[in-house]
Amino acid sequence: MSISFSDNDNDEVITRASSLPEDTNEGSLRPRSLTEYIGQEKAKGNLEIFINAAKMRGESLDHVLLHGPPGLGKTTLAAVIAHEMGVNMRITSGPAIEKPGDLVAMLTNLNEGDILFVDEIHRLNRAYEEILYPAMEDFAIDIILGKGPSANSIHLELPHFTLIGATTRSGQLTAPLRDRFGVTLRLELYTPEELKRIVTRSAGILGVDIEAEGAYEIASRSRGTPRIANRLLRRVRDFAQVRSDGVITREVADAALSSLEVDKLGLDSLDRRMLRSIIEFYHGGPVGLDTLAATINEEAVTLEDVYEPYLLQMGFLTRTPRGRCVTKKAYAHLGIAYIGQQEIPL
Ligand code: ADP
Repeated sequence: MSISFSDNDNDEVITRASSLPEDTNEGSLRPRSLTEYIGQEKAKGNLEIFINAAKMRGESLDHVLLHGPPGLGKTTLAAVIAHEMGVNMRITSGPAIEKPGDLVAMLTNLNEGDILFVDEIHRLNRAYEEILYPAMEDFAIDIILGKGPSANSIHLELPHFTLIGATTRSGQLTAPLRDRFGVTLRLELYTPEELKRIVTRSAGILGVDIEAEGAYEIASRSRGTPRIANRLLRRVRDFAQVRSDGVITREVADAALSSLEVDKLGLDSLDRRMLRSIIEFYHGGPVGLDTLAATINEEAVTLEDVYEPYLLQMGFLTRTPRGRCVTKKAYAHLGIAYIGQQEIPL
């Protein structure tokens, strides 16, 4: 089953964490088992316990909610869980469920123990959520057939299944839906060391010759995100083929990434534009997210989900109750003199 992971990826910024068309062959790089899945030690540790306990009891796994920025491995982890549990996984996404019948069909086609993966579950129509409540709690659904006085209600038992929901914004989930997940796991941005292991593993699968320092260079410029690390690896590989003898050294990686406008710390042109706009138009902040989004002509959700996590983690941006502020560290990185944050004169 094919799903669309995002719907506003028109501009091809290479360091964008959401899927780009060039990522369609991601499949071959996806780790299959928990041991192959690099990083996220906390989430993996918890999962291992839940998986083993469920297996020992011979039961299906409790429903799992995975949340975190795009490209961190939520879909991959869901597939890993299915592999570890030895069950099948069916994939859909919140926006792909266009009518209640779509969801009912998905649920009634599941086999005992199967996993139903719902990506972007926060975008599921609120009205259809009600179908999920009894399905998740009692493994049953009630379907109303017909209309008016002749309407009939049919009670359908479902197999014991596991719902795995993935979301970039768990705050947008309704409380009743959130409460029905027994396990909630938050995925964190990866460290450069972890990403270096991912790049090295991917290079092995793709048959690319890479030096340890080359892998680290790519890793440290990938915004803490495996999807970006794999994408940059492919781009750098092309560069290495044309410019050197195909080996990715630190120098080749540096030259390739600089030509792609990915700077030393992994910031791209939009990151820099966002930080510069706050400095130039709002004296370093605070500025509200929507105002900022309008200023740089981007969607507020994109800024919040895709760009901010890394800028916050790097200490370039802070969130205050009155809006976003650029830090002294960001001024230094951009080479702009810091004159202290000022209030905008009225
Ligand atoms: P999400 O669903 O969170 O947007 P995906 O699961 O699609 O992210 O991951 C994107 C890509 O990153 C995958 O194709 C996979 O190759 C790679 N990836 C993600 N997490 C890991 C990991 N822990 N170890 C190795 N590769 C990973």
